[in-house]
This record gives sequence, C-alpha cells and structure tokens, in this order.
Amino acid sequence: MEPFDRLESRVRSYCRSFPAVFASAEGATVTDEQGREYLDFFAGAGALNYGHNNPALKQRLIEYIEGNGIAHGLDMSTEAKARLLDSLQRHILAPRGLEYRVMFPGPTGTNAVESALKIARKVTGRTNVIAFTNAFHGMTLGALAATGNAAKRAGANVPLAQVSHLPFDGYFGPDVDTSEYLEAMLDDPSSGIDAPAAILVETVQAEGGINVASSTWLRDLQRIARKHGALLIVDDIQAGCGRTGQFFSFEKAAIKPDIVCLSKSLSGFGLPLSVVLMQHEVDRWEPGEHNGTFRGNNHAFVTAAAALEGYWSDEAFERELAKKSDFLEAQVAELAEEFDGEARGRGLLRGIVFDDPDLAGRISNRAFQNRLIIETSGAKDEVLKFLPPLVMSREELEQGIDILRDCLRAETRRNRAAQTARLAASAAQ
Ligand code: PLP
Repeated sequence: MEPFDRLESRVRSYCRSFPAVFASAEGATVTDEQGREYLDFFAGAGALNYGHNNPALKQRLIEYIEGNGIAHGLDMSTEAKARLLDSLQRHILAPRGLEYRVMFPGPTGTNAVESALKIARKVTGRTNVIAFTNAFHGMTLGALAATGNAAKRAGANVPLAQVSHLPFDGYFGPDVDTSEYLEAMLDDPSSGIDAPAAILVETVQAEGGINVASSTWLRDLQRIARKHGALLIVDDIQAGCGRTGQFFSFEKAAIKPDIVCLSKSLSGFGLPLSVVLMQHEVDRWEPGEHNGTFRGNNHAFVTAAAALEGYWSDEAFERELAKKSDFLEAQVAELAEEFDGEARGRGLLRGIVFDDPDLAGRISNRAFQNRLIIETSGAKDEVLKFLPPLVMSREELEQGIDILRDCLRAETRRNRAAQTARLAASAAQ
C-alpha cells in the first residue's frame, strides 16, 4: 500500500491487521479514503473511550485554539493545566476519598510507568519490582522489564532486569491462590527474591489476554505490599478512565494504591497525556529530577478537563456504563457459548478465548472485511478483544455482535468443509 510499504518502517503493526487508509471518524464509526465505514470495537487501543471526535470535547478544543490558548507549555503553570487539576480533584479524587499528588511525565503510558518505577525505587531505596505473568506495561526499558511477552521483550536487545515475575491471579487455574505464593516467597528470606520496591499490577490484563484479578486477590496484594514495605502501583492505563465501569478499575476492590498510572483515554480525545498519581508521602521528587519536553500538552489538558466535567461530574454516566456493561457481558457470553469459547472481562473490556488459538485472529481479519475493527490479545493472540468506545450506542453494540456472529458461523462452516475434504481425501487414498 502506497506510500506506507515504501517509506514507513517495518515496525508498523496495526496497519497490517487493518489494511485501509483511514480518513475521518466520528463516534464509533471510522471512514476510509474510499468512503467505506467501519464500526470500531477497538477505540484506539483504549484511547478513545468517549468516541472519535467527541463533539463536546472538540468544541472546547476549537474554542481554546481559536483563543490562542497555550499549546505547548513544558511544565509551566497554565490556565488549561489549572482547570484539569481542579477537575480531576473535584470530579474524581475527592468524591472517592483519594488524596493524590499529580505528576505529569512524558505524554505516553510507558512514560508514566517509568516514572512510577523510578519514584518507588527512590522512596524505598530498593531496586527489585514484582510484576506478573502476562503483564503489559509499555515498551521503554523499565516498563518493558516488567512486561511478560517474550516477543516484545526481545525487542530490547539488552538484558531486562530488576523485576521478578510472579503468577497473576488465576495463572494456575481457579483453585490456586497465587497471592499465597507471592506472600510465601516474600516472607522467606531464602526465596531468592529481593525485597521489592513495588508491586506493579493491572487489575485487568488487557494486552495479556483479558485476565481479571479478583477483588480479594487485589486486597491481598495491597496487604502483602504494606507488610513488606513495598509500594502498590496500579497501572490503570488501559483499564482506567471508565473502561471497567468505574473511573478507576480498582474501585471495586476498595483498595488505595500508593501510585496510579493513567494515560490512554485520560485526554478523552486521543491526544497524548499521562499522569502519575502519588500518595503525598511518595512524592519525593527533586525539582526537575524527571523531565520531558512534552509534559505540557495543553490541548490534551483542555479535552481531559472537558471529559471529566462532561462525563464524571455526576453518577449518570456510571449508571449508563453499568447497563451497557451488563448488555455486552450477556452478548459476549452468548457468543462464547455458541462457539465453544470462554468469556472473560469486566465492564466494556471483554474477551473470548476459543479452543482453537488461531480462531480469534481469523475472526479479526474476517470482521475487518465485514467493516468491524476488532483486535486480538493474549500471549498467542488467542483472545478476541472487545474494546468499544464507552459511548457506543446499544444498537451499534448489537450491530458489531451480529457481524461477529456471522463471521464465527462462516469460520465454523469453513472449518467443517475443510475437515470433510480432509476425511474424503484420506478415505480415497
Ligand atoms: N500499560 C498498559 C496497561 C497498557 O495497556 C499500555 C498500552 O497498551 C501501556 C502501559 C503503554 O502505554 P503507551 O503505549 O502509551 O506507552
């Protein structure tokens, strides 16, 4: 495809799964250069929870730009940043009884994770970090060291160290409580695991295959972290900002992490923005100790404040999310049952894993031909991953599910036909 194949690096990836040249997008619909419309069950890998070009957010941004508002501000104080800090405090932190300082690292998720790891190591004076099997925390070296996926790790081309990987909740099946294993290892001075600076966790592993940690397990993690003088870091980059039904994915477990990383849908508009939220006593940075040119993405501050004020100032949005989540859960469960899969997930972050590990990939390809954008996740891309914008209507959700059902039926027919042909061929021999 021109000019991409000729000029762009081989590293490109999503464009290989979704081979079209996209031109515009609105809500949950993306349009390519030939005017073909696609329904979006991918939402910018979770960066577009409020849909593409959300009109309220766009309006605020247009007004800001037309008023010559500051676009780039390093970490200088600006009106846009003040409004975001106030909105975050008023609509998110205060109502949840959370007292956090807000750090603006570089604008990507991996920047937030790097910063969280740095400050945890500084505060505790320890280097080791506990991370989990199937975790995904980003592609820079510190975050990559805490990531499980072998192919992603291989891209580092240097040893990735200072992280101990332990089994996530459910890793050995429902009958083994892996928090007991973690606790036993940390209690034992001879286990070979150095005392950790932090325990870094996703409450739902999105890239890792939609693995959901139970509330009990998360509470145990918090208790174990406290007992061992380690900080609990929740990486809420993909599962946060409403994705699991509440603003923070850890609210259901009623835990209070020492550090929280947010990014992706924080700006609400697909603009790069991330924050690290820290308990006040954790905020032991020296001025400038962690810097970066693009920490002051004021356009993202404007849309982030608009999103928090527009969607999180009362409980109506959360109630709406609960209804949509129940609906999606039921639809996904039905599909899983009809096609011998296992349904997983929370809120509007869901998945189906099939017996045939290649099926999810084939369905993603077929769905794209039928104008639905849906991704896979998991170590072997074996999980079909549902990540629709939170503002997607029930009709659109139904439409997407119908496309997937048709694709699954077509794949099943194709498989049966291939099997019959194989049997016929071997009988003829
Ligand atoms: N952490 C989690 C849980 C993620 O899902 C991701 C990205 O998918 C990241 C960190 C890295 O974010 P970014 O790609 O913006 O660096």
